[in-house]
Amino acid sequence: MKWTKKVLTFLLVVGFVTPVSLSGVTAEESSETEAKEDLPDVSILATGGTIAGSAEENTDTTGYDAGSLAVQTLIDAVPEMEEIADVSGEQIANVGSPNVTNDTLLKLGKRINELFDSGEADGVVVTHGTDTLEETAYFLNLVVDSDKPVIVVGAMRPATAMSADGPMNLYNSVLLAGHEKSKGQGVLVSLNDRIGAARYITKTNTTVMDTFKSQEQGYLGAIIGGTPYFYNEVTRKHTSETAFDISELDSLPQVDIIYGYQNDTSYMYEAAVENDAEGIVVAGSGNGSMSSVSAEAASEATEEGVHVVRSSRVGSGTVSQRDGLTSDSLNPQKARILLMLALTETDDADVIQSYYNQY
Ligand code: ASP
Repeated sequence: MKWTKKVLTFLLVVGFVTPVSLSGVTAEESSETEAKEDLPDVSILATGGTIAGSAEENTDTTGYDAGSLAVQTLIDAVPEMEEIADVSGEQIANVGSPNVTNDTLLKLGKRINELFDSGEADGVVVTHGTDTLEETAYFLNLVVDSDKPVIVVGAMRPATAMSADGPMNLYNSVLLAGHEKSKGQGVLVSLNDRIGAARYITKTNTTVMDTFKSQEQGYLGAIIGGTPYFYNEVTRKHTSETAFDISELDSLPQVDIIYGYQNDTSYMYEAAVENDAEGIVVAGSGNGSMSSVSAEAASEATEEGVHVVRSSRVGSGTVSQRDGLTSDSLNPQKARILLMLALTETDDADVIQSYYNQY
């Protein structure tokens, strides 16, 4: 029997047949395709960390291998993401974040710019270990040449733990990456339902889940019941507004961090100079203070052409500008990221200071 369109429509309405359209595509399939077309394309770039970590016991939240699960495993664990984005995954690295190198940073930054330039992604999520997450986030904040959202996410409990925080953090980050309101905010960091700015956020606690804080400036917002609420904005320049272009770079200049403490010595500075460091960030005490010994060693390093930037080890606040370079309110690890990028553009101390004042 030759079924007319009318008959088919009737059977469909009364539910006798599965909804096959005359073109051979099920109605369900075609509405799913339409719905998918409306969803944002979100690329998840995985680098490892606790979010991809697994332990033998589900109660083990400290003795585990960071960076052991592949990106597709992370995606498969949160099928709910399919309803909010067209998600794809790429493995950039699979390491604990203390092992993230300058090469990984460059690879990530270049890949994100490529995904945005080609139109392949509307937003990007980077999964990352929490230990150095803020460094990668701030690096991307300075080199991604787009207003499209980039969210860096991690977890404090491994994927195998009871009440693991990774799946919800990942879901929320994909939500943010595809959300209109995340555009033009600079690189964002999202864990524990919070939305933080790469410029401000820092890890403050070794083990607890609410470790990421933005001490002075506060969070940008929060994700409540599947909706992002933004309350603050970053006033410092970021992403497409910065001076940095990594497209032709294969490496970054060597910049070391030297900690300031009572009775400190000059030989850390001498070692940095001998090992061809182009920059030194001092994690000084208080308002970026240095002992006479380290101040003397730092000025000798400066005479050798090494740029020395004073920051503070206290964890918050701005280092006031006196003589020499200062990091504004960047902590030592973020001041290092900025100095590496600054040295790819200039050797002029005034220009370097202007970057600290703007970014
Ligand atoms: N403990 C770290 C984390 O939370 C390990 C790392 O940074 O890779 O991810």
